[in-house]
Amino acid sequence: MANIRQNNTLFLFGIVRSRTPLFGLLFLVLIYVFFGDSATLAAESVPVQAANQNNWGAPKVQVFQREGKWIIEGQRNRIELNPSDLQMTVYAQSRTWSMIPSFPGDLIVENSGTRLSLRLADAGKKEISPYQTGFKTGIKIALEEFARKDVKVDVQISLFICLEGEQEELVCELIATEKTATVMECFWPQAIAESCFDYTVVPFMQGMLLGKDWPKKVRLYDTVSYGRGLYMPWWGHQQGKSAMLVLLETPEDGGCRFEHPEGGPTKIELRWIHSLGKLAYPRRVRLCFFDEGNYVTMAKRYRRHVLETGHFVSLKEKINRNPLVERLVGSPVVHTSILYHIQPESSYYQKDEPAKNHQLVSFDERAEQLRQLSKKGIKRAYVHLDGWGFRGYDNLHPDIIPPCPEAGGWEGMKRFAETCDQIGFVFAIHDQYRDYYLDAKSYDPRHTILDRNGNRPHGSTWYGGKQSILCSRLALGHVTKNYLSLLSHGVKIRGAYLDVFAVVPPDECYNPEHPVSRADCLKYRGNCLDFIRANGGVVSSEEPADWAIPHIDLVHHGPYALVPNPGRGPAMGIPVPLFNLVYHDALLLPWSLGKGAWGIPENDLGYLHGLANVGLAYLSLNPGEEELVRVRTMSALHERVGLLEMTSHEFLDESFRKQRTTFADGTKVIIDLDSDTFEISPKLPVVND
Ligand SMILES: [Zn+2]
Repeated sequence: MANIRQNNTLFLFGIVRSRTPLFGLLFLVLIYVFFGDSATLAAESVPVQAANQNNWGAPKVQVFQREGKWIIEGQRNRIELNPSDLQMTVYAQSRTWSMIPSFPGDLIVENSGTRLSLRLADAGKKEISPYQTGFKTGIKIALEEFARKDVKVDVQISLFICLEGEQEELVCELIATEKTATVMECFWPQAIAESCFDYTVVPFMQGMLLGKDWPKKVRLYDTVSYGRGLYMPWWGHQQGKSAMLVLLETPEDGGCRFEHPEGGPTKIELRWIHSLGKLAYPRRVRLCFFDEGNYVTMAKRYRRHVLETGHFVSLKEKINRNPLVERLVGSPVVHTSILYHIQPESSYYQKDEPAKNHQLVSFDERAEQLRQLSKKGIKRAYVHLDGWGFRGYDNLHPDIIPPCPEAGGWEGMKRFAETCDQIGFVFAIHDQYRDYYLDAKSYDPRHTILDRNGNRPHGSTWYGGKQSILCSRLALGHVTKNYLSLLSHGVKIRGAYLDVFAVVPPDECYNPEHPVSRADCLKYRGNCLDFIRANGGVVSSEEPADWAIPHIDLVHHGPYALVPNPGRGPAMGIPVPLFNLVYHDALLLPWSLGKGAWGIPENDLGYLHGLANVGLAYLSLNPGEEELVRVRTMSALHERVGLLEMTSHEFLDESFRKQRTTFADGTKVIIDLDSDTFEISPKLPVVND
């Protein structure tokens, strides 16, 4: 106490000295009176205490051994670890979360070129010791002397298991010291045992709530971070009224292994993957436990994480960066095209109906259709234009300039852009810098990615025929070349959509001329997106993969996961707006309005999901009255709450068909997917249909 008081006085004195002498003197007198008084009071009421720093903020966590187990005991949570099989159980306030024990194959290494499947708990030497940093407290497990039959595997694994912060979140860190052997994959910490949860929550596209006994088989389309299986790098479980969250803090080379057979149960395991052949850097995951909570709590905890790490960039900040973005708020999205040309090698090529392989609409015809749309009272729109390049959509990338000659070439595209400007529409191009067509002018196999075995990817699915994949390290140069060429020719483009970047998980490249890790790949893709913005453009990509959120203003779509694919079918599990609970106020997201549209469960009306999620509406070129009413309604709602946080989502009955979303201004949207009705409160100024 005395020391602190003295320090305070000195500190105040320091401030005082910088002021005028008279004022300073007066101030000193006041300080004297203040401290003199409090010192007297203290002396009368409590005994003088020796100076100590007992409460310096250390976690109130004890580490000890009991009955052969290691215990990490905090005020809320207690972790018990069985040293023999590394099985962990978390005793949270009113719930127990048990993890499965270490299993054969939870550690996969490469030893002198041979892949070996090991078990973490089988380490020949296992040393467990207390570990504390001052902000987290727990244990360190040092594992070494791994072997497979008689083969010694020279790798050391360190596992750190600590409770951190007031909420006593469980932070688990994995570090490998890789000598002659390197770590290819590691599954740790282990999955939550099926007896400990009723539901699994996965940011599988927009979001999935999956009952443990869901009758159908469920598979994630992708299982690494930032693909459709995990738009965001986290998942969780619900148990009664409680919940737990698994949050990957080092997500780039991570993901999960997921299983859900018919009737369940679900198993989701954390999977760390090598980066360019090594585990390379420490991997960290945070497990959070909520005594009362569900998928909304998980999304909000993750939102706090992205806010605290600076990863969250709000739409308001994006508008500050580029005022054009503001024109998209409450604006419909028009998706249209110039040329669809299908090469004979493409999987889409139609031998029997050759006319379908070349569908052309000139720039001037499209411009006229937009004028007609404007005359129907559409005062604002974002126009996404496919197929404007030399040989149309998905052809010749990354060398697609000049604009399609048959459709009007440079002059036609200039007039199209000018029309958009005149009618107040924001015109952005579709573009692509990952697919690398073999007949592109600059194609050279030395610029493609190579996998770890030196193989070059090849395919001919898309319209343009034979393609490989351009290394992300070379993408920015092509973006610069093309985008600046359009601008310098006087085409008034106001943005670009860079296809697949924000939906395909990052690529590694093992080509010695341009090696790229997954983290590098995301950085290079981000550079491309940022370049568009730096040149005044609205920035967009395919789907809302978390890594891209700081770079992009809007995406093509971010709806729900369906069986067998997002094209059509019933939902996998129960759709929940996990992405929007985190990022609604950070990204513009359009919705298709039709029944069973892309990413919309087959019996659901896309319009209702669009309303509940308060997204932008897709608008066709020749809309009828019903479509116009829907688009006006969604636009008015988006204008009101498009820049606000989605604060909650609730199911209103056990059918999961009636649900309510709430936004930061108190606006509530109730949708009923069975009766195709909705209710917005407070009501919108426009007439609801
Ligand atoms: Zn490369």
